[in-house]
Amino acid sequence: MSASETIHTPEYNVTGQDYHDRRHFRYTGPPLIDIHAHVMRPRNFDKPDVIVEDNVNQARMMLDVAAEFGISRTYTMCPVEDIPLLRDAFGDRLGFNGVINKKKDEPDEEAYRLLDRYLEQGVEILKFWAAPRGRERGLFVDAPWRIEVARRARAAGLRIIMVHVADPDVWFEKVYTDAARYGTKAEQYPPFCRMIERFPDLIWIAAHMGGDPEHPDHLEELLERYPNLYFDTSAAKWQIREVSARRDAIRALICRHPTRFLYGSDLVTRPGLVREHYVSRYWCQRTLWESAWEGPSPIQDPDFTPSEDGPSTPMLRGLALPVEVLTQVYRTNALRLLQ
Ligand SMILES: [Zn+2]
Repeated sequence: MSASETIHTPEYNVTGQDYHDRRHFRYTGPPLIDIHAHVMRPRNFDKPDVIVEDNVNQARMMLDVAAEFGISRTYTMCPVEDIPLLRDAFGDRLGFNGVINKKKDEPDEEAYRLLDRYLEQGVEILKFWAAPRGRERGLFVDAPWRIEVARRARAAGLRIIMVHVADPDVWFEKVYTDAARYGTKAEQYPPFCRMIERFPDLIWIAAHMGGDPEHPDHLEELLERYPNLYFDTSAAKWQIREVSARRDAIRALICRHPTRFLYGSDLVTRPGLVREHYVSRYWCQRTLWESAWEGPSPIQDPDFTPSEDGPSTPMLRGLALPVEVLTQVYRTNALRLLQ
């Protein structure tokens, strides 16, 4: 392949993978439930208030691809004003998760008003996003206004809160090098643990394999300490890279705790995405969890540092989880928690 051709290789298929080849898929059970996605009218990434495509075409494309990969219901984190539109268009194919953020100088009342609007729309989950890069905006998982949101939500009958606790280890090595500003990766966890302890009657889902697929021992320790804690499997590039790198340990972890993991994609309906973008994520995720497929990941991964003579993407090494475990992770755990 010439250099000019390489430049035009799409991020969703740098290896020329035939995504129609699904012979290695082993799961043939009832439909999957995606607990973590962002289906909405596509927004401007830098100015999330600006709607770029004022229609649900991306959502339709994504959900049609989801159905092709056996996913019948997707829980979306979307702006509250998109919920009626999406519900009209897609009915039961979507469930809703209300993201409770507020701008730095906004009064706490803004967060409570947002909660009320989400509750009016019948969200089943709330999301507290608390990545290190949100610290300067005051988006701590245990900020007083978030404690109050959890308290009010619980009083209203909501039972599930999803949290983004931490980012990949490589980000702490390359992006969050200023530990005084961002905290270390280990320092992201105590505030989250305090929230679980404060609300032991709520169900807590830590997104992206608890934010720590790099350390299965840590994940196991958290699962053993908190019986009301769950992990979602979302964020394709992160999980392909780090789960594959410690396949046997993660496989053993999931098999020891099969009731505690929930399938998630973290797909986002961004402006201008092509169908194959969605195809690539679902294909890789199902390949990772249910097959014994091995090879360089078809998806470009800016967080991966290739070795001199190795492939340009990380190895994807399928876990080949047993079918009874897959059924729990793909479907029945979510059904049980959301009933
Ligand atoms: Zn997400």
